[in-house]
Amino acid sequence: MDNQNAPIASAGNAVTGEAERLGLYLAGEVEGCELCSSPGGEILWEDDFCRVVRVADADYPGFCRVIVRRHVAEMTDLSTDERSRLMSVVFTVEQVVRSVFLPDKINLASFGNVVPHLHWHVIPRWRDDRHFPQPIWGSAQRVSSPARAPVPNFRLATEIGARIAQYGKGESI
Ligand SMILES: [Zn+2]
Repeated sequence: MDNQNAPIASAGNAVTGEAERLGLYLAGEVEGCELCSSPGGEILWEDDFCRVVRVADADYPGFCRVIVRRHVAEMTDLSTDERSRLMSVVFTVEQVVRSVFLPDKINLASFGNVVPHLHWHVIPRWRDDRHFPQPIWGSAQRVSSPARAPVPNFRLATEIGARIAQYGKGESI
């Protein structure tokens, strides 16, 4: 193991932790990251760059997330093209959630403080929902949200897929 060009990962125990971390990073997954190891919700649409999932939350029935496939933490970790591609998907999901659920407001949010794997929340809000006008992570204002008309996953999936296909005709999203 005198070869200085040997891959870091085979260089021995001394650097195992960092090398493993680097190897996992290069492989596109980070151990212990729940958005690398699980979808993060019911998958409605996905391509090689990102996925749209629906979050199971009875108070917020159209709550979706747009999750970048590879493990990056910040918008500025993406190329310029990737940033606009991601936001196009976020805005498409926003349009669909608006048209299907008719909320009073949409909340878009990207935090990643707990799971630093880039994702956007698209959350329909109603004036009578559980937290309004607080963010949904704020203090509850009511016991629960009123029941809304159920919308099956396949309907959301179909509408999101159709809009993205239409939007992306001829070029990337
Ligand atoms: Zn991750």
